[in-house]
Amino acid sequence: MLDMQSFLKILVEGLKNFLAALPKSRVQSTPVPITPSPAPQSITPLVVVPPVPEPAPAPIVPQPTQIQIQRTGFLVCPIQATDDKGNPVTSRTAKISAIVDHSGTAIDPQSTKRWGVNAKDQKVRAFNGEIGQGPQCPQEPCGYPSAGTTEFFAKKEINYVGVASDGGKKILQYDGHAGYDFAYSLNTQIVAPADGTLCKAKRGDDLIYGASWDKDHSFYIKHDNDFVTWFRHSNNLEGSIEQKLTTSPNARVSKGEKIARLGNFENYKVGGTAVHLHFEVRNPQGEITDPYQDQTWEDY
Ligand SMILES: [Zn+2]
Repeated sequence: MLDMQSFLKILVEGLKNFLAALPKSRVQSTPVPITPSPAPQSITPLVVVPPVPEPAPAPIVPQPTQIQIQRTGFLVCPIQATDDKGNPVTSRTAKISAIVDHSGTAIDPQSTKRWGVNAKDQKVRAFNGEIGQGPQCPQEPCGYPSAGTTEFFAKKEINYVGVASDGGKKILQYDGHAGYDFAYSLNTQIVAPADGTLCKAKRGDDLIYGASWDKDHSFYIKHDNDFVTWFRHSNNLEGSIEQKLTTSPNARVSKGEKIARLGNFENYKVGGTAVHLHFEVRNPQGEITDPYQDQTWEDY
């Protein structure tokens, strides 16, 4: 039998151990009120605040890997026309019949091929990842349907219309293509997409397509950031530009300035291709870029 003293001692020890095992508490003090002497010193009350539980850490959400792309955003759409509602078209709303092919071409990191026939792989891949695929095409240029035979660019990333005589939006054009084709009628106004210096292409200027003014009415504008835009198949240049080129090898142009009219000139003749503007964007290294993927547009 324990006597009372032993019992109390065990009780006190137990209480001490219990208190020692408690989680660390925070002690808050309140300011000591200043009281005039000889009033008795007030005792600072101790307020024991129970530990505040830490908030649960926010769950770590995995971020998708971002492709590092150069966002220059300096070009406006080279087509001056209006849409169905009468609004001026932009690079987002302009009608496009063919896109830059990312499969099998020089823009494809897996490919050692260049452009055009040499880069044909019976597949066309758009910048949004959509793919057209098909059997070997008997005749240039070649477009292919999607596996699900659905329309391309249903999310309206661009206003893709395709080629009406060849399946329209259900066929992705063209295998090995290095530019964007704008589908507009003869003599639609073409404007400079940015400030720069315009030249007619001479033979040997174009290391990718071998395009030149005499062969397919190719001209290019070297912009102030050393990007170069290329234009093919135009009907003619604006008279004011031609005038400048009679006395100078190049003509200074400003963004939005009227420079040419849309046409179908190819293989040294009018009517050598369907009426459209073929438009390419090349970086300062002379490589073809995709202005939609690389956000080169400022009006997109
Ligand atoms: Zn083209």
